[in-house]
Amino acid sequence: MMIYLDNNATTMIAPEVREAMFPFLQQEYFNPSSMYEAARPVRNALESARQTIAEHLGTQPPELLFTSCATESVNAAFFGTVRANPHRKHIVTTAVEHPAVLEVCKELQREGYAVSFVGVDRQGNIDLGEFVRELRADTLLVAVMHANNETGVIFPIERLASIVKETDPEILFLCDATQSVTKLPIDLNGNFRNVDLLAFSGHKFHAPKGVGGFFVRRGTRCRTFMIGGHQESGRRGGTENVPFIVGMARAIEIAAATHDADIQRIEHLRNKLESAILQTISHVEINGAGAPRMPNTLNVAVHFVEGEGILYQLSELGICASSGSACTSGSLEPSHVLTAMDVPFTAKHGSVRFSLSRYTTEAEVDGVIEEFPGIIARLRRLSPYWDQATNQPR
Ligand code: PLP
Repeated sequence: MMIYLDNNATTMIAPEVREAMFPFLQQEYFNPSSMYEAARPVRNALESARQTIAEHLGTQPPELLFTSCATESVNAAFFGTVRANPHRKHIVTTAVEHPAVLEVCKELQREGYAVSFVGVDRQGNIDLGEFVRELRADTLLVAVMHANNETGVIFPIERLASIVKETDPEILFLCDATQSVTKLPIDLNGNFRNVDLLAFSGHKFHAPKGVGGFFVRRGTRCRTFMIGGHQESGRRGGTENVPFIVGMARAIEIAAATHDADIQRIEHLRNKLESAILQTISHVEINGAGAPRMPNTLNVAVHFVEGEGILYQLSELGICASSGSACTSGSLEPSHVLTAMDVPFTAKHGSVRFSLSRYTTEAEVDGVIEEFPGIIARLRRLSPYWDQATNQPR
């Protein structure tokens, strides 16, 4: 049996989503911009999908653009606002953002922009004092993620965005909501009313990869990033990916219908896994446990072992999980998120992320509970930091 606990990386396409997409992969293949009658249902499906998603997020259809992924939406937000506001040269973000944001910020630094990377505490909470201090007269954009992909820690977007607008209503606020759309309450007319730009990706909530959303609040100074045809009211060129957009709307509908029951079940399973690990393995801690956290995410810091080793052993048993660290050109870089949280060296390299979805079964979680302690014991026997005689760290 394969056990899939890597849903923050990507999710299975829901059967209902596949079904909704199917006609648009077969007979309804017409270009939604075409004038003839055959294209009308395709155009209607596109606009109906926009309406569904806009409603779900508390916005109006004209404020919602379709893109290829969250990374594109984030790029469109940064480069669109930078080009529309050349007089401001400072950006505020956090040290724990996804590379989609961090790497764009570094590119803008190379182009002469000043960027403040606000830190987090040991639990992953944003440093509010530092956040406030970093806002400047020439701040153009503040970019903060809603939920962290590695730890699941949730940032207080409503509070942060209102601080920004009270400080200077001209500063634009971008929220990377890739991990939270369909999972946490987002109302662009309510709790997210001070958010100007929002990015998300369909494949994180059981739609396919290759489709994303980009909310741009009416009146926001943001130039077109993808220049081309007149699609998306001239604000994002490129023929729309109708089948995937239809699938994304269907995924949002299903998530909304089953949300409460799903979240309860998912949280119950995550907590079961978490307590079992804490009870059966010594020298482990849960990264981000002291902060508001996504109910589907469990980031376990296992001291004195290598995360890559754990993942390899899990994979041998058909268990899919993920580590915080990224393997770059042969050298193992610890996760920038855990580094920002000041997770000790002995645990930073041994962190593993399990992330659940509504398709996660109790049997899958039980499978990990059964195998994980044995894997850690085996790896510790090989660890130079572990004393075999005492079964304790050296
Ligand atoms: N932002 C966050 C928080 C993410 O978790 C991800 C994907 O893992 C992205 C952005 C980028 O999403 P995509 O690869 O679909 O563009």
